[in-house]
Amino acid sequence: MISEETIQRVAEANDIVDVIGSYFPLKRAGSSFRAICPFHREKSPSFHVNPARQSYHCFGCGAGGGVLRFVMDYEHLDFPTAVRRLAQRAGVPIIEEAGGADEDRQRGLRQRLLALHAEASGWFHSNLLKSPAASRARDYLKSRGITGDIARSWQLGYAPDSWDALLVFLEGRKFSQEEIARSGLASSKEEGDQGNLYSRFRDRVMFPIRNDYGEVVAFSGRVLDPEAKTAKYVNSPETPLFTKGRVLYGLDKTKRDLIEKNTAIVCEGQLDLISAYEAGIRNVIAPQGTAFTGDQARLLRRFVETVLLCFDSDNAGQQAAGRSLPALLGQGLAVKVVELPGGEDPDSLIRKRGPEAFLEAVSRAKDFFDHATDKAEAAGELADPAGKSRLVRRLGPPLALIQDAALRESVLGRLATRLALPHATIRAVMKPPASQETSGDDQPVVVETITFSPGMRILCQLALGSREVREWLRAQEPAAGLDPQGGLLDKIARADYEDGNPAAMTGFLSTLGGIEERAFSSLDLSRMLIDPLARARETWAGLITQKLLQEVEGLKNKLARPGLSAEERVKIQKQILDLKIRVSDGSRPFQ
Ligand SMILES: [Zn+2]
Repeated sequence: MISEETIQRVAEANDIVDVIGSYFPLKRAGSSFRAICPFHREKSPSFHVNPARQSYHCFGCGAGGGVLRFVMDYEHLDFPTAVRRLAQRAGVPIIEEAGGADEDRQRGLRQRLLALHAEASGWFHSNLLKSPAASRARDYLKSRGITGDIARSWQLGYAPDSWDALLVFLEGRKFSQEEIARSGLASSKEEGDQGNLYSRFRDRVMFPIRNDYGEVVAFSGRVLDPEAKTAKYVNSPETPLFTKGRVLYGLDKTKRDLIEKNTAIVCEGQLDLISAYEAGIRNVIAPQGTAFTGDQARLLRRFVETVLLCFDSDNAGQQAAGRSLPALLGQGLAVKVVELPGGEDPDSLIRKRGPEAFLEAVSRAKDFFDHATDKAEAAGELADPAGKSRLVRRLGPPLALIQDAALRESVLGRLATRLALPHATIRAVMKPPASQETSGDDQPVVVETITFSPGMRILCQLALGSREVREWLRAQEPAAGLDPQGGLLDKIARADYEDGNPAAMTGFLSTLGGIEERAFSSLDLSRMLIDPLARARETWAGLITQKLLQEVEGLKNKLARPGLSAEERVKIQKQILDLKIRVSDGSRPFQ
């Protein structure tokens, strides 16, 4: 548990315009800032950031809240991690309170695994630089143009050909067998058998895989012996730190350049990416040997609008390009294909003919659909109707995924012209985009809302804006019994922050939960605050009256039931009378 004071200080120390502006550009619009909403698909910006309130709100999908909520939702982080990240950004020390054992354990494990990965990465790296056993690895990297400086910059490493050297090292650093097993760096013959762990990576060049924040969360190991009977690449398994298909290799280093160029060059392998980056072509990322997932595409969409696929021209590379397409188009990204001359990959092309040759190929990138049509034409497939039909059936479904209607129509028109087919023929094989969702979590992240009774909404607003109202509410009966959202009002009443401090208020709100925070993200509290206490008393009295009248209605229904004894009827009638007296008393504000 992080103390409430720390949360407030973190919220105050991180200006919401600075923080959101570091993820994507914000345009000034009067007293607030605007952008295309990152939480739902839209063409014109309805995402507003208000510096005076230190909050954001999207009028399209209802997303909203303070700076902590933004970081949680945008980075898919839990609350404590978001607080830590922003605390680190602003240099605010974290003050912990004793908290739920389960949450502590989860967080503790994550921290331990991060520390373990950092240690392991350092160990692999120093092996590569110094160990005599790593001479073959060094030779291999040299042959691929990787100098010592480059290896240091990417913290490349070497895993020795040993079943237990890493384990001995990690045990020496006081990591437990369980932690080592959970890290995925070791496995056992039998699942869960922590007594017989052995290193997963042996005699491999090690590439640390970092999340977009730069923390090592996994490894990819490349085999050295080309004749080896094992997989060319071995990756970490899924762990509490690492989910396959969520991480893009290189992103922590390249995100600035991606934003600047608004275009990502997608390489297949880590070495391709490193070669391009070190040759000065820095808007690069690698999905790591697999086709793009919906999560990776969404991650990339935060930084760029156009993706240039630079996969091998062999079959596997082309298939990976095709499989990446639905996820990328589904996120509204424009997809082009870079064809490298003579079957080269980016790494070999740059080494043989320099970065200019690579950039030249990049500049000739073609729209995916044009590229596919060219390929089919070159293969003689368009000469007969059957070949044309195959191409149309292959391109129809991804064509339907293009988000921008104007762009979709223009691609469709070009294809129809080249194939000399009516538009309707192509349209017939295009499924409607709605049925083409590539991943279930592509929907906007926010849909749920809270419905407030009018009185409860006013009271929550007054309580959020005025300390005096909060103090008064704490002296009343709990609101939880009065209204479905009364529990929320009770929580607000207990909040401790100064009036007129929007950052502290949004900091507090982010402790409530996403739906609750969203419900308040669009409020203008300043209008509420003329004599807030008087308004609160009046509204509170109204709520109590409403509650009493509901009870009267309930009793009247009971009275209408058949089979009541005379005695019971009299008792209920007396209760009704009592309630009515309380209602008429209640028309005067409570003390
Ligand atoms: Zn939105």
